[in-house]
Amino acid sequence: MTDSIQSSNDEVHNPSLSIAHSVAEMQAQFEHLHALSRSQPINDWATREIQLDHLEIMLSDNQDIFANAISADFGYRSESETQFAELFPSFTGISHAKKHGKKWMKAQRAPISALYMPAHNEILPQPLGVVGIMVPWNYPLFLAIGPMIDALTAGNRVMIKMSEAAPRFAQMFADAIAHYFSPDMVCVVVGEVDMAVAFSELPFDHLLYTGSTAVGKKIMAAAAPNLTPVTLELGGKSPVIVLNEANLESVVNRVMMGKTLNAGQTCIAPDYVLLQRQHHKEFIHLAKEWMAKHYPNIENNPDYSRIINGEQFTRVQGYLSGIQKADIHALTDVEVDIETRLMPPMIVTEPADDSEVMQNELFAPILPLVHYDTIDDAVQFVNSRPRPLALYVFGERYNDIEKVRNDTVSGGLCINEVIMHAAQHDLPFGGVGDSGTGAYHGKAGFERLSHMKPVFVQTKINGMNLLLPPYGGLFKKAMALFLK
Ligand code: NAD
Repeated sequence: MTDSIQSSNDEVHNPSLSIAHSVAEMQAQFEHLHALSRSQPINDWATREIQLDHLEIMLSDNQDIFANAISADFGYRSESETQFAELFPSFTGISHAKKHGKKWMKAQRAPISALYMPAHNEILPQPLGVVGIMVPWNYPLFLAIGPMIDALTAGNRVMIKMSEAAPRFAQMFADAIAHYFSPDMVCVVVGEVDMAVAFSELPFDHLLYTGSTAVGKKIMAAAAPNLTPVTLELGGKSPVIVLNEANLESVVNRVMMGKTLNAGQTCIAPDYVLLQRQHHKEFIHLAKEWMAKHYPNIENNPDYSRIINGEQFTRVQGYLSGIQKADIHALTDVEVDIETRLMPPMIVTEPADDSEVMQNELFAPILPLVHYDTIDDAVQFVNSRPRPLALYVFGERYNDIEKVRNDTVSGGLCINEVIMHAAQHDLPFGGVGDSGTGAYHGKAGFERLSHMKPVFVQTKINGMNLLLPPYGGLFKKAMALFLK
């Protein structure tokens, strides 16, 4: 790799503490940040705002270099996708935090019962201390930056473990952090899974992990002995329910956008579609037309990304080996190419419930179409499986949409759209059950990574002394009033 970090920042930091390559270095980083978090808590807005400025400048200076490194890790990742799905939400997330953070960090008055007046209640957001962030490979930039925005706005110091599956970007990002941030504020850990395991065992004040559900269970177990609270941003199968009256052309347009983005390697990509059987043929026809229009000449199309590595490629091909050829519908004329890890999108019609395609998160441009009879059946289909990270419903009739909205539980929901709920800095983002624990982004992320400390403020004149022992008549009368 010939690219190196571009810096418009005068202050260049010593990377020896900023980047850890061994468990011993990682522990030294943690002890350093932990000691500072106890001796110098970041209670002012100015210091937090400066960190957000550093983040913004770092991104602004290095966006092309970052996009190139990510592309090299993927074997090819569309630069436009990196701009749209990684840089854009990072920049807008930073702006949102800079706009609102000062207000979020102020102590807020809370209601108080008349019984305790004239005392008052308030809630004071405080930095937790040191927040650990674990990053997956699929959007390695935004899934590092997004949690960093919330952690830094909340006044925390941060340690980040980058994904070993995107090593070029991991090193590039670590170098950039070492340039733009003091190791008193942010440190990065690079390395293989053994480093990730050791990272998850550090006694952080909070650990925010993004990755698979299977590893998420290990993270929770590793955090438990330290009583480290966790936010787990996990995966799973995010269904699309297409109601009968939905306009199929607009459904296909949105679903195919979600399925082709990053070649399906998106945690909230539509995983499978519940659609009545009489519409399957039309859906496939429209999907082929959509591909011809939006990704012509897919093998050389600069907008289409590759599967990240051979392991992921083999995993997905393995799922398909259990499916009858007649049920696999290629949406382009181009063959899968293991050499370049090109996987053009395909539809699988009515796979068996126990097939791997229906048992596992696909994380690839494969779209199963599953038949349902009634809306109740579709809702029951979703509810009988692990809680999804996202659910998408398309339709026109308010009552039917409302039924799906109210009777299903998912991390997030989009109506007549896919994916866009994740771009809303004013909405919390997270899973539920198997798809995750806790939510972040915007104010929700600020509060998640703060200690929202309840404060009761007593006044000089108050009634508390009337209730001291020895408990006399007044006490008995008061209790008689309240104990029914
Ligand atoms: P992964 O779980 O394999 O890896 C994620 C991180 O966990 C990496 O940093 C890795 O170093 C670390 N890790 C791996 N094994 C570990 C272990 N035994 N102990 C401790 N740490 C370990 O996930 P992935 O393959 O990088 O990402 C794909 C998954 O992430 C998909 O399931 C996807 O849905 C999910 N995801 C979720 C979101 C979300 O916001 N909910 C976003 C992106 C991806």
